[in-house]
Amino acid sequence: MLDERGGKKRIIPAEVVGHFRAWRTRVYFVLLVIFLALPWISINGTQAVLFDIPNRHFELFGLVFLSHDSPIFFFFVILFALGLFTATALWGRVWCGWACPQTVFIDAVYRRIEIWIEGDYIQRRRLAEAPLNGAKFFKLLLKWSAYLVVSSLIAHSFIAYFAGSRKLVTMMQGSPQQNWEYFLIVSFVTGLLLFNFGWFREQFCIIMCPYGRFQNILMDQQSVSVVYDRDRGEPRKGLEAAGQLRGDCVSCNACVQVCPTGIDIRDGLQIECIACTACIDACDEIMTKVKKPQRLIGYSLANPKERPKLFRPRVAAYLTLIVVVLSGLIYTLAVRLPFSSTILRAAKEAPYTLTQDGLVMNHFKAHLFNQSRFKQNIVIALPDELAQKGVKLTQAIDQHELKVGESKQVHLFVSFPPDVLDGLGTAPMALAVRDTVSGESRSVDVKAIGPLPK
Ligand code: SF4
Ligand code: SF4
Repeated sequence: MLDERGGKKRIIPAEVVGHFRAWRTRVYFVLLVIFLALPWISINGTQAVLFDIPNRHFELFGLVFLSHDSPIFFFFVILFALGLFTATALWGRVWCGWACPQTVFIDAVYRRIEIWIEGDYIQRRRLAEAPLNGAKFFKLLLKWSAYLVVSSLIAHSFIAYFAGSRKLVTMMQGSPQQNWEYFLIVSFVTGLLLFNFGWFREQFCIIMCPYGRFQNILMDQQSVSVVYDRDRGEPRKGLEAAGQLRGDCVSCNACVQVCPTGIDIRDGLQIECIACTACIDACDEIMTKVKKPQRLIGYSLANPKERPKLFRPRVAAYLTLIVVVLSGLIYTLAVRLPFSSTILRAAKEAPYTLTQDGLVMNHFKAHLFNQSRFKQNIVIALPDELAQKGVKLTQAIDQHELKVGESKQVHLFVSFPPDVLDGLGTAPMALAVRDTVSGESRSVDVKAIGPLPK
């Protein structure tokens, strides 16, 4: 990865065709479509995925979560981490090669742009070594301009997950001064993507990625990785002793030429390997040409002769934890109420007022929030026993329509005869809050207060 002076050695991997290359292209395409489309898909009037962190408002496939739902996010994060641990224990760095945004964007977007503009790897290597002239300057300008456009597009899509796609479109129609915070954030993310995917590339995997650092403790001898079959390949062509039978490796170096991290898989499992499978396809092509069986390099255990054991203590422990956390998540979602309602005394006002007809009146504020996947029609009412005691509830409208994820504040005025109060001048009451659409109802306790009895 480094040149003689310790500087970054630019790696221009050769293009590869083959079984895994074809599958990776399909998987990357699906992942890119999902990433770009999700913020623009609306489910029941909510964004398919939204993480509005400043307002602690999260939308996930038609469900709306607020800050009080943070345990649910804890379950999601733990599940994702455990899923990654299990996949790594079973198939090594499969995440890096098949699903990591770093690999997907570089391979499916940025490197493709490079190939379209600068040509195949031989032309690109020649161009990289050529002195700067008009033609080279034009190609570099074209390439970095295209990088800038796609970086900006990716940055906008990424920010749409946090700001909301509709809000983002509205902001984009205004001038940058009107939304300078978002303008700065999008510009910063665009610059970061440009630097990372355009220039830094696989160095991130090798130098910075925390997952890449601790994958060794997640893997064991039974984890499947991209492995060179040393017994079959060695002694490779050129290294065989006189009279010694040569292995299948023909020392063509195709596996090294295609490697985006610049390593030689024949040196064994290395931390730089992102399991992209390019060397498998490259070697398979060579093996076909020399009429030898494929998969001299392939997915296998460190010892390709052994068969992987799927169920072993490490995997069983991860799977058990997944079942436990998944059960916790399902239970939390099942007992979650379709709407939340809190009724609090209106602040900054006299605790009660006396009306002209001799009643005591308290002012409350109800906070209603529709956290279901359907429209709701909320009614706040007094139970019959309170009404019979002469308690009255006054509000601007009787029914409060709430769209999915919508919250509303409702002013409630409760008036009652003074004899409802107890000896401490208080009157505990329970208001009935009901959704007429689903029939769900709950009772919310409030404490009315008035003058102390004489
Ligand atoms: S060694 Fe093979 S699988 Fe690993 S990064 Fe290089 S080309 Fe990809
Ligand atoms: S591509 Fe296969 S045959 Fe060629 S050097 Fe690599 S391992 Fe050997």
